[in-house]
Amino acid sequence: MTVVEAVQGDITTQQVDAIVNAANSSLLGGGGVDGAIHAAAGPELLEECRALRAGRWRDGLPVGEAVATGAGRLPARWVIHTVGPNRHAGQTDPALLASCFTRSLDVAAQVGARSVAFPAVSAGVYGWEAEEVASVAVSAVRDWVSSDPDSLEVVRFVLFGETVFSAFDAELS
Ligand code: ADP
Repeated sequence: MTVVEAVQGDITTQQVDAIVNAANSSLLGGGGVDGAIHAAAGPELLEECRALRAGRWRDGLPVGEAVATGAGRLPARWVIHTVGPNRHAGQTDPALLASCFTRSLDVAAQVGARSVAFPAVSAGVYGWEAEEVASVAVSAVRDWVSSDPDSLEVVRFVLFGETVFSAFDAELS
């Protein structure tokens, strides 16, 4: 059984095996949670992301896909980078957003993480409503953990601010 929970807080300080980054396709850093994760992790994280861009993800990471790196100076062991759909660019398909959560959990299980923290992917600069992100995220994660109940001990949504936290809290209760 996997515990699925929501807390209000800063994802960079979470004591979990893997934290998920709401990255952009370039993988080379951005604002919001991406900027906070790179700032807290230090330059090693950017080096690993550059290496991904020099290799398998030469054209950037597609929307809905996920990839793991180390976590630099963060308390976590891995950062799993995923690219949410950008509503302002017409990316309005909830399946793309659901894929961010399921592919991130696939990658977490592949690297051997037992605990994973997610931010509200696409609920910031990418313009999705907090309620819709919460609904898509919680159902994607619940489906994933019910089909694979043994891989993960905890999946924690770590939300910045009361509004987004309330949306996830309501979806989980
Ligand atoms: P996106 O571009 O996918 O919308 P953003 O980083 O702009 O990503 O926002 C995603 C969510 O992450 C927003 O709800 C934002 O408030 C939140 N966020 C920003 N910094 C942090 C942080 N340090 N920890 C957790 N969530 C954060």
